[in-house]
Amino acid sequence: MDERIDVPVEELAEDIRVNVVDIEDFNSRVVGAYNDGTAEKGLEADDQVARSIIPAATGAFRDFSYIAPDIPEFITENCIGCMDCVTECPDTAILGKVVEPAALEQGLSKIPEEERAKMAAQWGITNKYFNVIEKKNPGQGGKFGIFIDPTKCKGCAECVDACGDHNALKMIAKDDKNMEWYKAAFNFYRNMPETPKKYINEKALADMMPTERPLL
Ligand code: SF4
Ligand code: SF4
Repeated sequence: MDERIDVPVEELAEDIRVNVVDIEDFNSRVVGAYNDGTAEKGLEADDQVARSIIPAATGAFRDFSYIAPDIPEFITENCIGCMDCVTECPDTAILGKVVEPAALEQGLSKIPEEERAKMAAQWGITNKYFNVIEKKNPGQGGKFGIFIDPTKCKGCAECVDACGDHNALKMIAKDDKNMEWYKAAFNFYRNMPETPKKYINEKALADMMPTERPLL
């Protein structure tokens, strides 16, 4: 007979919170051990780890920056804005956005001058978001960019496969210098306004992806 049958519900709830899904403990002890590289050497197989219990939304604290050796590089001039890389990434680690040129200029004016040209080059002209729109409504075309979150990318290269013959993504080796750049570029992406509605066809999944909404 289950000896716990007479245990008050409140007590069971507290037991579950502490012993099964203690999110604070998971984030500091389990995620912390993976982030500082000590998990394989010393993380004990306790009740949570042994049962592979992962509390919801804790992926936000996981940092892959120092784990995967490679990361995708975006080759702006080859990109057609199809969003295949974004839809295929298993970790929501690669994201796209369309910006109005004036908003981009404003954003660029707020970052150090020596970074501006490189950051501007991350945003390109595509037929889909610029040329076709400009033909119908001059002055309304948007610039499109793809950005990788270095803390979430595990270097699996599925986005590169998805991009395929467009050749707008390739894997490169990480180093301290380029990781600083990836962090700065992703930060810049986040600080840009959400893709304006005029660039989004809500009936097409691919067009929904340049919005913040698919983000967890
Ligand atoms: S390498 Fe893998 S995890 Fe990283 S952005 Fe591409 S698909 Fe996502
Ligand atoms: S990087 Fe490749 S897969 Fe991604 S949007 Fe551009 S062309 Fe499409």
